[in-house]
Amino acid sequence: MRRVEIFENIDKMKKFLNGESSIGFVPTMGALHRGHRSLLERAREENRIVVLSIFVNPTQFLEGEDFSKYPRTLESDIEIAEEVGVDAIFLPTAENLYFSDELGVIAPKVRGFILEGERRVGHFNGVLQVVLKLFNIINPDRAYFGKKDAQQLILIQQMKRDLFLDVQIVPVEIVRDSDGVALSSRNRYLSEGERESARTIPESLKIAEEMAENGESLAKIRDEIGDRLKNLDVEYIEIIRRDLGKIEEIERGNSIILLAVKVGNTRLIDNSWI
Ligand code: AMP
Repeated sequence: MRRVEIFENIDKMKKFLNGESSIGFVPTMGALHRGHRSLLERAREENRIVVLSIFVNPTQFLEGEDFSKYPRTLESDIEIAEEVGVDAIFLPTAENLYFSDELGVIAPKVRGFILEGERRVGHFNGVLQVVLKLFNIINPDRAYFGKKDAQQLILIQQMKRDLFLDVQIVPVEIVRDSDGVALSSRNRYLSEGERESARTIPESLKIAEEMAENGESLAKIRDEIGDRLKNLDVEYIEIIRRDLGKIEEIERGNSIILLAVKVGNTRLIDNSWI
């Protein structure tokens, strides 16, 4: 197997990519699983050069969130990258990516501060800031994002539009475990019992999809999901348009059901594009 090149230094990373014309980029926070892998595989199919970045970005974590205990599994991340045939891993440090008193990026006033952005105020400022920095360093032709983080994906598509970024944003389907639970680096925090409970999240989304197919009302679908998740600590169940606008009724092919649920101390998000 070919060894992947690893760059901590920004100038060396840029030099490696200088003159390349077909670059696929997959930004992550590491602790890679099959969800990340499917992004990398898609990038591998569609580009000459594939770059993976691994950076646990401090500016997108709020006070009291799991920044310091976020899982870090570099050795196995490198193995996965090599299996997929990634060309380079960009591993910046916060010291070389950030400056003191630097200018910021502010998420859109409405879409950036509802749902996840309402519970995690400022989270998307940090996400958009780091993604913009990474885009400017890597200069990718295509960048791959999971539909698992639906609001993040939509805001990155908006950033591309608003700032006229010359990159194609490629959405990738959610990868789930055999019990239906969406793969997430945070699933490892779940106890066996919590994992059992977490199954009701994808189960409720599945029922909701069937109800939407049968033309049930938005209110009825929300109630049904709420009912099925009543033993969990639900933060929100929202059904909105794919541009994150409010809707009164489901617009088939243009709606998303978004959930955030706490299972024990672990906060899980999931969604369904309907
Ligand atoms: P993270 O490292 O968790 O920030 O995720 C990096 C990228 O992988 C993001 O674009 C996520 O949306 C994507 N991702 C995470 N989990 C999944 C999953 N289960 N299926 C598809 N994509 C995922």
